[in-house]
Amino acid sequence: MAIIASNFKTNHTRNTTSSFVEEVNKYLVSNNISNEVYIFPTATSLDKFDITSTLNIGVQNAYATQKGSFTGEIGTQQLDEFDVNTILIGHSERRHILGESQDEIAKKFAFYSDLGYKIIYCIGEPLEVKEQGLEQTLEYIYEQFEGININYEKLVLAYEPVWAIGTGVTATSEDITDVHSAIKSKIDKPLLYGGSVKVENVRDICSLNGVDGALIGTASWIVDDFIQIIENTK
Ligand code: PGA
Repeated sequence: MAIIASNFKTNHTRNTTSSFVEEVNKYLVSNNISNEVYIFPTATSLDKFDITSTLNIGVQNAYATQKGSFTGEIGTQQLDEFDVNTILIGHSERRHILGESQDEIAKKFAFYSDLGYKIIYCIGEPLEVKEQGLEQTLEYIYEQFEGININYEKLVLAYEPVWAIGTGVTATSEDITDVHSAIKSKIDKPLLYGGSVKVENVRDICSLNGVDGALIGTASWIVDDFIQIIENTK
């Protein structure tokens, strides 16, 4: 059984999310799927999910607050309207493009873990660190656990090397198993791989030792491909 998660990022409209969810739900009910399947839509489409379905919904981001004066952000007062209880934290685009610091990430983690959210926590090194070797890569990754309660019951990890995200360059089996086995030896939690996972490689990646599933961006945005990804890992 694999955990398969689609991160929509800033893609899909309310309309296309609706039909996407409908098709995935249809597939899930008519097939005997044991995979745990998640979709992280844009916040504007959170109401397009049927909370009674086997398809899980998560939020790509939210602020560490119930409500307040945080222009442009959403808090749990808004999330509660959609019955969301899964959040993605530490994604590399939030770390590197939106400038979220480890301190802010740790605060968010503490806030949402206190509330009992399931947290998919992302870690991963940029290319210049990877090029320095495995030791430096692991050192960089371990720093991304600063302030994070790694014993949190509802924690799922996602190793996403920054150089593999959205680039079409997937990490090799060796890259993945090296990092996964090192993390697994310290943290006993489900660990997903993310970074240019596609229909063609998802089965091999998910069958590697220490890989419990995949977090997928680009290749998951076409519904037929996402369904095929689930099919390939069931
Ligand atoms: P990608 O993105 O599949 O497009 O590489 C993965 C992610 O950012 O979660």
